Amino acid sequence: MALETSTVLVALEEKLQSLRDLHNRLQAIHVGSTFSSLLRQPSAIGLTFNEPLERKVESLKEVGAFLKSEKVQDALKAAGESEKADKSELTMSWRRENRKRRRAPSPESPQPYHSFQTKSTSLFPLLENESTPLKVDDLALYIREFNLNPDHSQCKLHIWSPVRSGNKKIGNPAVIRFSIRDVLTAYVTTSHDPDTRVLVVETVTAFGPREKKSPHSQSEYMVYQKLSQQIARMLQSHPMVCFQTIVGLLVSYEGLFTQQCTTCQRVLSAEGHVPPVARLWIECSSGPEVGKEDVNWQPRHVTCLQS
Ligand SMILES: [Zn+2]
Repeated sequence: MALETSTVLVALEEKLQSLRDLHNRLQAIHVGSTFSSLLRQPSAIGLTFNEPLERKVESLKEVGAFLKSEKVQDALKAAGESEKADKSELTMSWRRENRKRRRAPSPESPQPYHSFQTKSTSLFPLLENESTPLKVDDLALYIREFNLNPDHSQCKLHIWSPVRSGNKKIGNPAVIRFSIRDVLTAYVTTSHDPDTRVLVVETVTAFGPREKKSPHSQSEYMVYQKLSQQIARMLQSHPMVCFQTIVGLLVSYEGLFTQQCTTCQRVLSAEGHVPPVARLWIECSSGPEVGKEDVNWQPRHVTCLQS
């Protein structure tokens, strides 16, 4: 068994050495610079080869023969197979790197394919409720149940109306007022398609808890302006986000003035002295034995989002 393993290792080391040799020979003759110097000096092609160039061509031939030799072919084959077997991200990035080097893009060639383009750019998580978005007909019931839920007793939802009227009909668009006692008031403007009846969130505008302003205006305070801008950015990343997910995001602002940014561990940012108005969704793998609250929306300063 041990003998077998060491034989395999020796064979592997031989293959690696062949590949290293090949690499070194290619490095030594600078294939790229030879050809590009030929291209740069078209007159040189008509002339007799000068000494160094001739030598370079000789070494090219040598490398060619070396490349065709059995042991290099074996090593290349083994490397190819090992690459195929290895599905790791490392291999993928090596391949990308290799492709990049081999083929310089010409202006008319299509843009190189980047795998990250297929990834979701949404700043919202894919939650269970996203598959059953709230319909306008269920909004009143949803609000009643939300206001009775002791998990967020500081938060309240109301259908907002510009005039105090007895009319209970929900308009289109409709404005829903969300408030956290002593922290903020946010107006969520929603609309719905007459056929699907699904509520689509158009804008969210945040104000101070005692600001008396129209939902379509802007807060006097920097912190609420920044907060509104941040949510606008998130909505842009996922325009069809469902109403319940937006409410979940708003609830996470309960600790706006007391929670630390999870990046810099400060409440007020070093620049601007603004609390963490950005939220970043972090998948928590906490099992049922961990009696922790929902901490998936992590508070961050806008300036700490990238780190
Ligand atoms: Zn921070």
